[in-house]
This record gives sequence, C-alpha cells and structure tokens, in this order.
Amino acid sequence: MYRTHTCGELRLEHSPLKVTLAGWVQRIRNFGSMLFIDLRDRYGITQLVFNPASNSEAVKKAIELGREFVITVTGIVAERSNKNQNLPTGEIEIIVEELNILNSSITPPFTIEDETDGGEELRMKYRYLDLRRAPNQYNLLHRHEVARAVREYLDSKGFVDVETPHLIKSTPEGARDFVVPSRLNPGQFYALPQSPQTFKQLLMVSGFDRYYQIVRCFRDEDLRQDRQPEFTQIDCEMAFVKREDVLQMFEGMVKHVFQKVRHIDLAEFPRMSYDDAMRRYGNDKPDIRFGMEIIELMNTDDPSLSDLVSGRSFRIFDDAELVAGICVKGCAEYSRKQIDELTEFVKRPQIGSGGLIYIKYGNDGSIRSSVDKFYSSEDLLKISAHLVSEPGDLMLILAGAAGRTRKALSELRLEMGNRLGLRKRTKYAPLWVIDFPLLEWDETDKRWNAMHHPFTSWSKEDNQLLDVDPGKVKANAYDLVINGVEIGGGSIRIHKRQDQERMFAVLGLSKEEAESKFGFILNAFEFGAPPHGGIAFGFDRFCSMTILNQENIRDFIAFPKNNMGRDVMLDAPSSIDEKQKKELGL
Ligand code: ASP
Repeated sequence: MYRTHTCGELRLEHSPLKVTLAGWVQRIRNFGSMLFIDLRDRYGITQLVFNPASNSEAVKKAIELGREFVITVTGIVAERSNKNQNLPTGEIEIIVEELNILNSSITPPFTIEDETDGGEELRMKYRYLDLRRAPNQYNLLHRHEVARAVREYLDSKGFVDVETPHLIKSTPEGARDFVVPSRLNPGQFYALPQSPQTFKQLLMVSGFDRYYQIVRCFRDEDLRQDRQPEFTQIDCEMAFVKREDVLQMFEGMVKHVFQKVRHIDLAEFPRMSYDDAMRRYGNDKPDIRFGMEIIELMNTDDPSLSDLVSGRSFRIFDDAELVAGICVKGCAEYSRKQIDELTEFVKRPQIGSGGLIYIKYGNDGSIRSSVDKFYSSEDLLKISAHLVSEPGDLMLILAGAAGRTRKALSELRLEMGNRLGLRKRTKYAPLWVIDFPLLEWDETDKRWNAMHHPFTSWSKEDNQLLDVDPGKVKANAYDLVINGVEIGGGSIRIHKRQDQERMFAVLGLSKEEAESKFGFILNAFEFGAPPHGGIAFGFDRFCSMTILNQENIRDFIAFPKNNMGRDVMLDAPSSIDEKQKKELGL
C-alpha cells in the first residue's frame, strides 16, 4: 500500500498510530544527529523525522533524496516538541521506520513554494510543476467547487446539461472565429464556436425547456490580461420566460455559489439601466462598491440641466458637448504634484483627455481652482454645490465629446477609488445592468451592429422605432456586473421568423446572406419556437471573482495561454508538415 493517510490529515489524536504516507519531498534539513523532511501532497505537508542512531537504513536512503523526489514512508505518528502553529499538521511528526523511493526528480527550475522564484514564462513552460504549488492547487480546487455549486443549483431547478458541437459554422458573437480545415471537404472550414448560442436556442425549439452547459468557447481576439482565446462559459437557456424570470433564476444561482463556496450572503441585486450607468458611472459595468458618481455640469443633449459653466469665455467648456465632474471626499489638500499626476493620467493616449480641471474646497471654506481666471468664487461655489461637495473636498472636472469624457471620468473615478482604498477586495457589489441599446453604430463600416447579438429581441414599445430611429431601440438584454467586472450577459430572444428577418435586414444582411448564414435557425423558428431567453457567464472570470476579487483569469485555468495566445509548454501553435497540409488542401 502506498499510503494509509494523506499528508494533510494527521493530528495529535492519531499518535501513536503506525501510518504510511506518500508524496513529494518539499524540503530536507540534515542536522547530522537528526534529519527532517517536509513531505507534501495535495492535502498538506507533514514533517518526517529520521533518527540515525536508531534507523540507519532509512537515513541512508534519505540522504540520497533531493527536492521533488517521490517517496513513501512508514512510521509512527508522534507529538512534536517544536510545534508549528502555522501548519494544520504542525503538532505531529512521523518517526520514520521505512522509506522507499518511488521516483527521483531532477532539480526543478524554480522552487515549489507558495512564493516561488520562477518568472511567469518559466512557470508556464513547466506548468505541471507550477500546478504543484499550493496557491495554484487552491485556485483549481476553488474552480471545481464553483462548478459543483453551479451544477447543484441548476440541477435542482430542472436544467438539463446538453453538449453541443465544437466543429460548427461561424457564430455571430462579434469576434473573429478560429477555423479548422476539413480534410474530407477540401477548401472548406469549420469554425469553433464563440458560444453555443444558436444550439441552445434550437434546444428550446426542441422542447428541452431548461438547458445549461459548462462549455468551452473560442474567440480569436487580441489578448489582454483577462482574456484567453479559449475560455469557459456557464451557458444557459430557458423557454417560456420573460426577463424577470431569467434575472430571478440567475441571481439565485450567483447567490447560491457565493453562499456555498464563500459563505457570503449577497443582498438583492440592484438594477440599473444602461443609460443611468453611462451617465452616473461613465461605464456599462459600474463598480458600485463606492459612490463618487459622475455629475454633469453641462450637456448639449440635455437642455433641462441648468448650465453652470458656459458663457464665461472659457473655451474648453464652451466648445464641449459634455462637462462633468466627480467629487473626491477629503482631498482638497492634494499637492501640485498629485494633481499633475492625475492630469498625466487622464492625458494618457488610452484615455485621451485634453486636460483636467480642479476645484479645491478648502477646510476653511476657501475655494481655489485651475480656472480662477474665468470663474468667480461665486461661480465656483455654485459648481461645488452642484457636485455635492463639502469643505475639504477636491472636485475633478473633464470636458469634451460626451462619449470620451464619460469614459475618461470613469477611469479617473476608478483611479481615485484605488488611491483612496475604496475598492475593497473583501466587498462584493453585484448589480444587473438592463435596457441596453439594441444596436450600435459602426463608424468604419457605416452600419448598425447588434450590441449583444442578432438574436436579441427588442422592447415592444420601441417596435416602430426600429425602422425610423434604430439607435434609440432598447434591447431585452441584461448583464450581471460585480465590482466593475462583467460576469455574465444574456437576453430574451427573437423567436419568430419575421422578427428575425427584420433584425437581419436592419443589420444590413441581404435575404440571401441571412438565408445562407442563418437559414437553419430561421427555419426552426417556423416550427413552433417557444418564447425563450437565457444568459451566459464567463466561468473563468466568475471563479477569479469569487475569490477575493482576483482579476487574472489565467490563475484559474489549468493550462492557459500567454499574451500572444501561445501555449509555451506545448509550443503551440506550430507549423504542420507538408503532407498534412496537402491532405487538408492548404
Ligand atoms: N451567447 C451570449 C454570449 O456568449 C450569451 C447569451 O446571450 O446567452 O455572450
């Protein structure tokens, strides 16, 4: 027998049991008169002790060991004289009677410890060794727990897990497809699914009523820190539902997971319209862990707003489409250097503001600003009142084109939130963002794109608008956002052929194109498709979010790709040989 117990389970009450353990040598300390080994497996670390005076045979073998050798030992559980409070097994050690080496190990390229000396690239190359480290094991076990809690919830609600194919035709989620050449159909290609969207809708037509799948999806996008070319979704669909049913069901799922995995009870999720989110947070995935909302001072689109800033010969405000600001509590004493830093921050090309205007409302009631030349103290006090500031506060104001100004203020707000420690890692603030626009204008291609995807239905009240002012039509779409991160999104779908055809037409698809790309689903809608809707959650991100707001999804994927979309362990992608190419007709 290789083992009777794991390296994480023995306690004082097991003394003086005879046990057998197996695992990896984490560390060896040889004091001559005594030799200690830390033995590690997935469950923990147990100290082994060898006494040369009483057991020279085992000691001889122990001396040959190196880090990461795999061994099995038999010995007696004994109380330690020198207890380690930091280790669950820290009160005991094993007095070894017999040692067997199961396999040797060459020296690992980095230390297999919680804090390792290995750089990212090296650890990716030896990912199987990196995965021996406790933090990574913990992350993957967490992922397993989240998946289990998700299944538990959805199973209890009657959802059926159905697998959908990976070799398919292009799906319209808006990213680039990965394609696979077909040997049997020379010159033709499959696409890997960006999501199982059309299949899950077809399953509703088939009458499955409630579907889910924890499923791999593929999107050939430019990579960022939180993106992977292949990632996992919790993909769900329900028949005979309205938006409210879907929101209730999946709010329940998220609460269940947090409760099960983190023992956190989340309160009811607030709802916010897309328009509100953009106005108040400059962002359709607002971080509502803290306030500091954006307040408008002038908006050419909103004449009802009493204009507090125009007509004072300050060109930047006079020429702007939008002037808006945030009030940062207690920061009136910010130094010149700090303000300069913030100015640099908003001027960075990614943000692209022309400059930053500030007003400091001193603790003594004094008011100073970077635009004193144009605005009297009285003006500034009015602006300050509108920005809901109190003595001691700093106001930061941006102006320009509406879209860009909102985006910049959103970034600035998050930056200030970080600086002031308001984005607490232990706090969770989920919300539903609803009433998204159905379409967004593509300036380059001069046409409308579906904001969510082309199967999303629109609000009944906006039915007429679709032909006259498509940009104003609201979608039956929703996103779940937690702490500024989009965790999931979905919609109530179109389920009638005429409506779907109308949507394709708005998107500029000819009848022929619609037929050749989506004929299968248009046909399906003619055979009694029920009203239906659904949602998909980014599973990797959900896992990272449910542990202390960690943001790097790579840490929760067993074998992730690097920033260039490469698997450095496999060295993929790689070229294929000529014969293979020929066979594939490439
Ligand atoms: N298929 C969508 C996505 O992957 C989600 C949904 O509408 O259910 O984003």
